[in-house]
Amino acid sequence: MKVAIVGTGYVGLPTGVGLASFGNDVICIDKDSQKIEALQKGCLTLYEDGLQKLFNETVQAQKLSFTTSMKEGVSGADVVILAVGTPPHPETKEADMRYIYAAAEELAPFLKNYTVIANKSTVPVGTGDAVEEIITKTNPQADFDVVSLPEFLREGYALYDFFNPDRIVVGANSKRAKELITKLYEPFEGKTNMLFVKRKSSETIKYASNAFLAMKIHYINEMANFCEKSGADINEVAQGMGLDKRIGHKFLNAGPGYGGSCFPKDTTAMALMADKFGVDMSLIKCTIEGNKARKKQMAERILNTVKNIENPKIGVLGLAFKNGTDDTRESPAIEIISHLIGSAHIVAYDPKATSNARKIFGSQIEYADNIDSVFQDADAVAVLTEWPDFKTIDLKKAASQMRHKNLLDLRNIFPKDDARLASFSYQNIGS
Ligand code: NAD
Repeated sequence: MKVAIVGTGYVGLPTGVGLASFGNDVICIDKDSQKIEALQKGCLTLYEDGLQKLFNETVQAQKLSFTTSMKEGVSGADVVILAVGTPPHPETKEADMRYIYAAAEELAPFLKNYTVIANKSTVPVGTGDAVEEIITKTNPQADFDVVSLPEFLREGYALYDFFNPDRIVVGANSKRAKELITKLYEPFEGKTNMLFVKRKSSETIKYASNAFLAMKIHYINEMANFCEKSGADINEVAQGMGLDKRIGHKFLNAGPGYGGSCFPKDTTAMALMADKFGVDMSLIKCTIEGNKARKKQMAERILNTVKNIENPKIGVLGLAFKNGTDDTRESPAIEIISHLIGSAHIVAYDPKATSNARKIFGSQIEYADNIDSVFQDADAVAVLTEWPDFKTIDLKKAASQMRHKNLLDLRNIFPKDDARLASFSYQNIGS
């Protein structure tokens, strides 16, 4: 099958590599010419575990190619996947649909034979109808269907999730489109749940899922606040809760709040979408506000440990919004650091996300190229991303390098006793 992917970012690129590995002829399109040039030269434009190897193999097998030309990419495609961004609109904070609508208008003239336009971007309910209208208006002769094919991959595990999805949701209103998508996902037959629903249901499933996971995180964070006051321990509480199969262990890690390119924008978009329909989603609204406040509270917690120190140095471990990715979009670390700037000298280390953080903070903070430099002469060190490398830090050595031994483990990665044995004044979350 010939597959064109419009938008070669965190979703488009791993999807392209995955579909090419099944033997499809995949062409990834992006309007960012620097990105396409780098990919054509074999350089990945984002970090994902295992991606480089499969990328090299599929390119070498001539199953995967890259272009900035919509004409070259879309002409003759059986399926065109939309994977462009839907960031929050700068003013309304609703999903900004300009990239989707532009892509629909740009691709329409090149539709010749029957084509399925499959939307993987996270979009408000009814977007499929709007895309259909744009394409029909731009190219009245086009023979096509628009389906919703929401993406559930986790950054950091994008390839793993591509090959091992919990479910594939397809929102298709036509039998012909359903058959073509079934063929595209044939390699998953019998291996995962394939759910065919109405297009509007499919669009809603994505927002409903993300909002639910965000609420779960906010819930455990509020429970952590309760544990700190009551003398309980959130790790033990989460373990006990998670053993209930109706609840499960996932998304019960208390921390500095959720971030990333999806949860913050998708919860806001969901709440605003509901407002438009006259439905009050108070749970989601509470989650959004509580999560925003949490990052500020975490920064205050850190500053509190150095409040009587002149010209304090604060070390930061982690800049990415979670481990396994270089993505710093809406990262709690970024938000927390922005509250610290001006009150302390910040030295931060991240194994993958430094160059993205540098684009945000420039010279306002110092970037370390190793963990030791973060602890050296620091008055406090805060763990803001749960990278596995951080878990194996020699705590005794780290403590001996510091001026004041304040360790704020906002991801609960260290055993409490180890930190105290290393003579840290140690604070974690929820105990
Ligand atoms: P991204 O910003 O990494 O990539 C989007 C790409 O689209 C960019 O490279 C941009 O240049 C390109 N683009 C925009 N308009 C274009 C056009 N008209 N023609 C060609 N290229 C164009 O975004 P992402 O993180 O991959 O997210 C894409 C969508 O998938 C969003 O709606 C997001 O909410 C959703 N999603 C993301 C994730 C995730 O983990 N990142 C997970 C599930 C769903």
